Amino acid sequence: MTGTQGKASDCHDGWVRVALDVPLFGDYDYACAFPAPVGVRVIVPFGRRRMIGVVVAHPSQPGVPAHQIRSVERVLDDMPPLSQDWLRLARFAASYYHRPLGEVILPALPVSLRRLGAYEGKRSGGGPVARMDKRPGPAPENVTPVAAPILNEEQEHAVATICGAQGHQTTLLHGVTGSGKTEVYANLIEHALEQDKQILLLVPEINLTPQLEHALRARLAHRIPASSFVVLHSGLSDGKRLRAWVKAQRSEAQVLLGTRLAIFAPLPQLGLIIIDEEHDTSYKQQDGLRYSARDLAVWRGRDLDVPVVLGSATPSLESWHHAQTGRYQYLALAQRATSATLPHIQLVDTRRLKLEQGFSPQLLSAIAETLDAGHQVLVFLNRRGYAPVLHCGSCGWLTQCVRCTAYTVLHRGPRRHHYLQCHHCGDRTRVPPACPECGDMDLKPMGRGTQRIEEFLQAYFPQARIARIDADSTRLKGSAQRLFAQVHAGEIDILTGTQMVAKGHDFVNLGLVGVINADAMLFAQDFRGPERLFAQLMQVSGRAGRHTQTGQVMIQTEYPDQPVYQALCRHDYSGFAQHALAEREAAGLPPYAWQALLVAEARELATAVNFLERAAALEQLNPHTCEAAVHVTLYDPVALRVVRVANIERAQLLVESSHRPALQAFLAIWASTLGELARQCRVRYTLEIDPLEI
Ligand code: ADP
Ligand code: ZN
Ligand code: ZN
Repeated sequence: MTGTQGKASDCHDGWVRVALDVPLFGDYDYACAFPAPVGVRVIVPFGRRRMIGVVVAHPSQPGVPAHQIRSVERVLDDMPPLSQDWLRLARFAASYYHRPLGEVILPALPVSLRRLGAYEGKRSGGGPVARMDKRPGPAPENVTPVAAPILNEEQEHAVATICGAQGHQTTLLHGVTGSGKTEVYANLIEHALEQDKQILLLVPEINLTPQLEHALRARLAHRIPASSFVVLHSGLSDGKRLRAWVKAQRSEAQVLLGTRLAIFAPLPQLGLIIIDEEHDTSYKQQDGLRYSARDLAVWRGRDLDVPVVLGSATPSLESWHHAQTGRYQYLALAQRATSATLPHIQLVDTRRLKLEQGFSPQLLSAIAETLDAGHQVLVFLNRRGYAPVLHCGSCGWLTQCVRCTAYTVLHRGPRRHHYLQCHHCGDRTRVPPACPECGDMDLKPMGRGTQRIEEFLQAYFPQARIARIDADSTRLKGSAQRLFAQVHAGEIDILTGTQMVAKGHDFVNLGLVGVINADAMLFAQDFRGPERLFAQLMQVSGRAGRHTQTGQVMIQTEYPDQPVYQALCRHDYSGFAQHALAEREAAGLPPYAWQALLVAEARELATAVNFLERAAALEQLNPHTCEAAVHVTLYDPVALRVVRVANIERAQLLVESSHRPALQAFLAIWASTLGELARQCRVRYTLEIDPLEI
């Protein structure tokens, strides 16, 4: 890289190195007759195509013979070049996740800034940014400002400690549900605003939890104009995303509230990064560049020397470990901020009970009592549909997807008729009139999902107004908000649903939370199963009794002695974490080890496994790899638990090291060889760093 952007020496004509969104490691150098500073977008020919790329360097000599070199067609100067710090973030992500730089940079830009069509043709009108500037932005939403409450001691201490520090510091803000983390964030934001800084606040989900947005808007209304509070998430239209991005880059957005993709927003005055619910797995991108927005946030904060705050009631064990070892600063909010106390969590041992559609007599009577007292009930079951499978009582046949190694789930459609759906490939089929194996007409649903729960509750409590919130009932845009609004307005007595109902809602009148079939996660194959279970149950429990009355939580389980349930009843996150970390350490698992996962996909499992075996063998062939691999373990390739999805078979290879730099050094060499091998073996592959699911 030469010089800083804007210097005259930087705008020379000559050679430019351009990052392009192509899945190849390599340098793409072009001749350029125009000033093209680092960070500017350009249109270049590539093969037979033309593409938008970003200038990332000015090489003194091009990497291709001079007679082969092609020229930049056009420099797109409708926006200031991407800044040096933004490019550093992109470079770090590319090197850490082992992807070509262009595959990081281009997808991070709003679509209209990287699509050729937006700049060409009669109607391009000077490009998307110019078109956007001509159109007035949407009128900012009206908010009624609310005054700041007086902070309690713990909140006060947290705010003072974070604001009192200079430069970068990552803080783990461990606050029980209802402890008033949002109010701490608001104070930190106000402090940063006073110094004319921009603030980036990341949340796992915006659409499901509009409350945080509303609360913060109202709370900050007396500080900044409504138009300076900007949201950025994937649910926005291309135009709105562009507008948010440009406002961030122009420093017009003072507070940027976004989901994981907002970690790549350009923020020239960035002075504070807050990650709410830092343990949430939505921070991990699951395709393309599989980045962790939380981890990138910590890197970005360190790079810019600004504070990073990670908030959670149930921190990820990684962050907890960092706090324990002093890498992160630890601050706790142990009390609820309102007069409410933490909910009473009770386990219902279902081993010797006769259940009615999955409900214990204890839970049913608790529901009845809560309804009688005029409070709302939440029934949580993390499984959508009517029943997980349809089954023949005579011969044991089960409904199975023809394209996947998975059972098909029974769903109830409109007008109560049923259909079968595969939750892996989405394929829908009709319910067979009889068992295809033995002809028996009496096919029975086995187990239960939220639809069946809803049906049962309606029959059992005919007077109650019941709503269900899951991915099926909220398919239409805005329907989740409508359903939640009904709950908040008191028009619903019993709410049932999947983890969608667990996230960050402040239900004023919720008296009881019932949890059905929690054990499923306890024995999930993934070693993070108990951690997820604890977080999820704590989060859903935290919905109860947030205001005046005390809330009650009933968890049905066949394993009441499991440490995760015992710790939950005591609201003892640290007890749980200590136990779980000891297990992880003994087993050599994260956070005591670092992992990468190579997944291969092919028509036949054998092809995928062959690729992985050869990939593992590469390590022995290449002496550099061999050297780096000394501290790295490559496990045997194994088929994925659901081997076949949509007729593609999948296998994985786990790479592990107790030493992060060793793993990174190995991956740097290894990753660059995989593309060619995959072409030879005719497989598709993904290499994921710090995978969350194994
Ligand atoms: P968390 O995000 O930690 O679960 P919230 O930020 O939603 O908790 O706060 C829970 C409730 O406590 C909210 O209704 C909030 O308005 C209230 N609250 C927060 N801080 C205070 C305070 N210092 N005094 C009074 N009420 C507060
Ligand atoms: Zn049969
Ligand atoms: Zn399927």
